[in-house]
Amino acid sequence: MALELEVPRRQPSIVDATKLPMCASCGRPITPWEKGVAFVCPNCGEVVIWRCARCRKMGVVYRCPKCGFEGP
Ligand SMILES: [Zn+2]
Ligand SMILES: [Zn+2]
Repeated sequence: MALELEVPRRQPSIVDATKLPMCASCGRPITPWEKGVAFVCPNCGEVVIWRCARCRKMGVVYRCPKCGFEGP
């Protein structure tokens, strides 16, 4: 009879960049101290889109990962 132990897979306690919101325009993680902006997609209304301060200022086009809507 084999004894199966469930070992919890714990992530190493390093700063997890994947938990940061990603800028929909440049794809970089938005740092908490950065003045990023979050809004719901105006087309499908299901996805929260994040934009970093830089892309917002420069008016870089964003793209909704769900419906593919592109906007300024
Ligand atoms: Zn950006
Ligand atoms: Zn959308």
